[in-house]
Amino acid sequence: MASGGGNYRNGTHRNSLKGTTTATDRPLSVNSNPSKPALKNKPLSSAGASASSGLRKSSPGSLGAGGTTKDDAGVPGRVRVAVRLRPRNAEELVADADFADCVELQPEFKRLKLRKNNWDTDTYEFDEVLTEFASQKRVYEVVAKPVVESVLDGYNGTVMAYGQTGTGKTYTLGRLGEEDTADRGIIVRAMEDILADVSLETDSVSVSYLQLYMESLQDLLDPTNDNISIVEDPKSGDISLPGATLVEIRDQRSFLELLRLGEAHRYAANTRLNTESSRSHALLMVHVKRSVKGRDLAHSFHNGNTTNMAKSLRPTLVRKGKLVVVDLAGSERIDKSGSEGHTLEEAKSINLSLSALGKCINALAENSAHVPVRDSKLTRLLRDSFGGTARTSLVITIGPSPRHRGETTSTIMFGQRAMKVENMLKLKEEFDYKSLARKLDIQLDQLIMEHERKQKAFEDEIERITTDAENQISEAEQNYANAMEKERLKYQKEYMESIKKLEEKWMMNQQKHSERKDQMVSTAEEVAELKKLLSKETSLRKAAEEEVNNLKSQIAQLKMSEASADSEVLKLRKVLEDEAYRKEKLEGEISMLQTQLLQLSFEADETRRRLDRGLPGKVPVGLDSLISQARPQVNDSGNGEKASMENLFEQVGLQKILSLLEAEDADVRVHAVKVVANLAAEESNQQKIVEAGGLTSLLALLGTSKDETIHRVAAGAIANLAMNETNQELIMSEGGISLLSMTAANAEDPQTLRMVAGAIANLCGNDKLQNKLRGEGGIKALLGMVKCRHPDVLAQVARGIANFAKCESRASTQGNKTGRSLLIEDGALPWIVQNANNEASPIRRHIELALCHLAQHEVNARDMITGGALWELVRISRDCSREDIRTLAHRTLTSSPTFLAELRRLRIDY
Ligand code: ADP
Ligand code: MG
Repeated sequence: MASGGGNYRNGTHRNSLKGTTTATDRPLSVNSNPSKPALKNKPLSSAGASASSGLRKSSPGSLGAGGTTKDDAGVPGRVRVAVRLRPRNAEELVADADFADCVELQPEFKRLKLRKNNWDTDTYEFDEVLTEFASQKRVYEVVAKPVVESVLDGYNGTVMAYGQTGTGKTYTLGRLGEEDTADRGIIVRAMEDILADVSLETDSVSVSYLQLYMESLQDLLDPTNDNISIVEDPKSGDISLPGATLVEIRDQRSFLELLRLGEAHRYAANTRLNTESSRSHALLMVHVKRSVKGRDLAHSFHNGNTTNMAKSLRPTLVRKGKLVVVDLAGSERIDKSGSEGHTLEEAKSINLSLSALGKCINALAENSAHVPVRDSKLTRLLRDSFGGTARTSLVITIGPSPRHRGETTSTIMFGQRAMKVENMLKLKEEFDYKSLARKLDIQLDQLIMEHERKQKAFEDEIERITTDAENQISEAEQNYANAMEKERLKYQKEYMESIKKLEEKWMMNQQKHSERKDQMVSTAEEVAELKKLLSKETSLRKAAEEEVNNLKSQIAQLKMSEASADSEVLKLRKVLEDEAYRKEKLEGEISMLQTQLLQLSFEADETRRRLDRGLPGKVPVGLDSLISQARPQVNDSGNGEKASMENLFEQVGLQKILSLLEAEDADVRVHAVKVVANLAAEESNQQKIVEAGGLTSLLALLGTSKDETIHRVAAGAIANLAMNETNQELIMSEGGISLLSMTAANAEDPQTLRMVAGAIANLCGNDKLQNKLRGEGGIKALLGMVKCRHPDVLAQVARGIANFAKCESRASTQGNKTGRSLLIEDGALPWIVQNANNEASPIRRHIELALCHLAQHEVNARDMITGGALWELVRISRDCSREDIRTLAHRTLTSSPTFLAELRRLRIDY
């Protein structure tokens, strides 16, 4: 019911629609007589509308045409009222046998005549008049069917029975017709029609069943729920019962069961409350939700060319009709004396809803400004049914007995007033955003699941690829290891072959060497001859001295006879002077011969050394002439060379020889440096040479001389002297490293480099000089010399590196050194690794040792791994022909966590 007048249509309005609103009226099967209802005692102006027209099924289009969503105002629809007369019951047949019925029905005129007394009647007109013979089917079709059809079309509908207890309200509405199908009441038939019309895939039908007693709303489907609250939508004014059980109906059988259950609960509740069912109102609410499709949908959407995507995102248009069937409490007045066992307050409360309904209908019928909807729960629940948007059909039930004329009259008056109530029917159509959201939610969840599945499949694929790759890597590593092993065997074979070739070469050299030895014998013979010459000369000198002595004694004799003759004296003096001059000349010759002998003996010595080394024994130019010059003076002593050198050393004097190093004559300098070098080769001479300043002079020669021979020989001498620790310090303090480096830089002869490298290599073996040596560029100088690929040079470089590594290792062990090797710092590692397997064994041995020394210290391990030294160590530990080195390498590897970790990482069993 409208709280204001907005939805109310008064009679004037209704009349004004007469003739123009037949379309609106047509679907109502209750014959729509648009003329004023209930014209008491007046002939009805238009009673011609056929009753049969009310039975025909209304066309769905007819309501739709007037009831689109666009028309917010709705379609006028008056409350239709039918009256039904119950037949006399057994008691009445007996008790009222002598009396006529208090009503007379004229169904063809839709009139009811109420007998006031034997001579006076009141006539009332209704939308339908149903006699005591009216079948249940007919009652349904006339009263309820049009309402049901409206509900199926998306309107709210109400079918309500009003009347005195015992007049057939429940018979009309609620008969289940289990014994006789013809007995089925409106509720059962309505549900049959609804279920026949809806499609259960797209539509839904659900039911609540309630009882209202003394203003408490009880759930007949869940009796524990006995105080359901009514919720009103503040905007639309629609009411809802969120607390009520709502059961979805899918077939008639389950609906009937539900009705029986509700009825049983109603009975139990009334027993418990000590009430009668006639004092409570029963409300059945059927919610019909239908989705609009096909022609209707196209009609609802003005653009019919929507895409599929748009369609799937478009909410379904739904129509929600609600059918409310109300079996009201008996309309008879409650005896205020409380004869039924109620107090006055209870009696008031029991009838509150019903009297409120009467007041509201009066207000609506009279077009009153105020309709007291809020006075009771029933009026709140039926707000839409009277003066609202629902199609409402009321059946009032009356009995025939004249004894109840008063109640019958008031029932008739209620019906008459209700006929004046005008509703505005509104299509309950809306977009179903909720189910669209639900549908999209489901789609989203499906997509999420699909995504998760794909994600998992992707991860599995990645894992499979990773495993494959790992397998391939390990296979490749295995192949690599096999190839390495193959290579190793190949190199071993080649190595053996080259050793064999070298042995052959060595044999050939041996042969050549023996030939040269023969040559050397002849040279030795020449030397012996020279020696003979020398001793002869010595004896000549002795003879001359004797002569001098002799002459001296003669002089003495002459002096004694001085006086005898001055001339004789003078003569003798002259002789004496002559003799002195000759002596001097002889001495000069002796000195000369000594120098020549010195040279010859050095050259002979050098020739011998060269032959020993397998180099061509070239005899210096001019030697022959010297020999031939000297030969007559050489005696036949036959002493060894060494002895002669020592003699020479003593005879000529070390100082003199050293002073010749600075002689102006280049040849003399060359000879002198060779002599010194020879002397320095003998350990016994070394100290004397150094004490006499020989080492200083030799170092100076490296700086001052431009002659490579001098460089070579001097460097050789320095190398020999550098074997002694004291000398090493001296060399260093005299700037030996830079002098040697410079010499190496200018050298062209590999032998010069060999000497220089040898000297530095010796210095490398001094523990105390490590840092100084490195600081002055010793390691760089060594590494610079590897440009010359001569194996002799490389062997010395390797020896130097090994010496240095050994000293470093010792210093690290003693805790005197931290940090990584200076060799690595100075970039020696690549060369070391490159030559670790050099075919020349001296080189290889030194490097193998150097690697072992370096590897003994963890701080070097990372560099060695990145530099490839680990492989060499592994190889050494497996293949080195020297057991001690092999063991050392193995021990070194196994004691280093870094190496072990790397080997494990490379999956090399060690
Ligand atoms: P109410 O619900 O109004 O109190 P009921 O429907 O219980 O009345 O009916 C009272 C009695 O009258 C029941 O026994 C019922 O079977 C019977 N009755 C009511 N209407 C008819 C009818 N049209 N034909 C036959 N019997 C009826
Ligand atoms: Mg009843």
